[in-house]
Amino acid sequence: PQPIRVAIAGHGNLGRGVEAAMPHNPDMSLVGIFTRRAPEQLSPKCPATPVFSMAEISGHADHIDVLILCGGSKEDLPQQGPELAALFNTVDSFDTHARIPEYFAAMDASARSGGRTALISAGWDPGMFSINRVVGEALLPNGDTYTFWGDGLSQGHSDAVRRIPGVAGAVQYTRPVPAAVEQARSGARRVLTTREKHNRECFVVLDEGADADQVRDTIIKMPHYFADYDTTVNFISAAELARDHSAMSHGGFVIRSGNTAAGTKQTIEYSLKLESNPEFTASVLVAYARAVHRLHQMGQYGAKTVFDVAPGLLSPKSAEQLRAEQL
Ligand code: NAP
Repeated sequence: PQPIRVAIAGHGNLGRGVEAAMPHNPDMSLVGIFTRRAPEQLSPKCPATPVFSMAEISGHADHIDVLILCGGSKEDLPQQGPELAALFNTVDSFDTHARIPEYFAAMDASARSGGRTALISAGWDPGMFSINRVVGEALLPNGDTYTFWGDGLSQGHSDAVRRIPGVAGAVQYTRPVPAAVEQARSGARRVLTTREKHNRECFVVLDEGADADQVRDTIIKMPHYFADYDTTVNFISAAELARDHSAMSHGGFVIRSGNTAAGTKQTIEYSLKLESNPEFTASVLVAYARAVHRLHQMGQYGAKTVFDVAPGLLSPKSAEQLRAEQL
C-alpha cells in the first residue's frame, strides 16, 4: 500500500517533534511543512522536506491524507483549526480544557461541511491521560481518580510569571507531593486538596532594579495560578536560566483507586516520564494521524476525540496481526 501522506501545519516545538517521529513510522511519509513565516526562514530536520507558505495550503488538498496541526492552543488553533478542517483530515493537540466543547463544535461543523475527519485534543493531557481517566472510572465505578502532573515545566504558569512587571525571564515547575501520590496509590481514597497534591517552584530573572520581595509576593498570591499552592520562588541570573532550565521534560500519573467489594481494594496506575514533552506529544499525534486516515476511509466524518478511536486503529498492524500477537 501507498504510505499515508502527512503534512505539518506550524513549525514550533510540536512541529519539530512530528518531524522527529516520522522516520519511526514507515507506513507514513512527510510530504511538507506549512508555515505562516517566510518558508526560507525554516530549517527542516531533513533538508529534502519541502516547506510551503500557509497562504497556499488549499492548493495541496489533493496531495495530503492527514494534516497535523501544530499551532498553539491559545491563539492559533481556534482560528486555524476550523479553517483547515473543511479542507483536510486533521489531528491537533488543543489543550485548553475549558474550551474543548466549543472547539469541538466548530471543528465538527467545519469537517462535516467538507466531508473530512478532525481528531481534536490528542497528546498526553488531554489525550492519553483522558483515556485512562475514562477507563479507570468505567472499570472501577466505586472509586476515585487522581491526576498528578510533573515533575515538569508548565508553559502556562511560566508565561503568567513572565508577565509580572520586573520579571525579565522565568520558568515554573509543577511537582507532585510524594506523600499525596502515596496516599492515592494506597487505596485509602482520601480527598486530596489542591495544596496537598502539587507544589510549584519558580526560577525568576529580575529586571535591573526590580524589587525581589514584591515580585515574590505577586507570584505566590496570584489567583488560580499560585494562590492555592505552596510556591517557592528562586531568583537566578539570565545565564543560569539559559543553562539550567531549557529542557522540556514533563510527565505525571493517573491513578484510579476503587473497591469492588467492601474491603477489596483495586488500584490502576498510568505513568509518564517524558524527557521531551513536545516530542512525546508529537508521537501521539502521528499515531492518531494513522487512525484519522482509516476513520476517513470508513466514511466517519466530523470531529472526534480520543474517546471515539479504537486502540487498534492507532497501530500499523492489521486487526488479524494484533489478535494473533497482542491480545
Ligand atoms: P510553539 O513552539 O510556540 O509553536 C506554536 C506556533 O508558533 C508554531 O506552529 C509556529 O507557527 C509558531 N512559531 C514557532 N516558533 C516560532 C518562531 N521562532 N517565531 C515565530 N513563530 C514561531 O508551541 P509548541 O510548543 O509547539 O506547542 C503547541 C501547542 O501544543 C501548545 O499550545 C499546547 O497547547 C499544545 N500541547 C498539547 C499537549 C497535550 O498533551 N495535549 C502537550 C504539549 C503541548 P508557524 O510555523 O506558522 O509560524
